[in-house]
Amino acid sequence: MKKKHTRQNEYCPLCGGLIEDRTIVHEERDAQGHLYIFENVPARVCDQCGEVWLPAATIDLLDEVIAKAKPKKTVETPVYDLAAQR
Ligand SMILES: [Zn+2]
Repeated sequence: MKKKHTRQNEYCPLCGGLIEDRTIVHEERDAQGHLYIFENVPARVCDQCGEVWLPAATIDLLDEVIAKAKPKKTVETPVYDLAAQR
């Protein structure tokens, strides 16, 4: 496996798995409940349990993008209420 840089290995505080740099699809909700989906988000992901950490700079960028950028596309999201399924 090729590494872009030589950072010391970090391990997951939850399961002890190796944490890797990956790009993920991230979902974010604002205070009004609007859902935003971000593609190609740089994140740190546990190889073992899949726990995701977003660097503070990435979180700031998400807010900035919502405020300023035009989305690539807008999708409809079906919402189901399991309490209504009997
Ligand atoms: Zn883990």
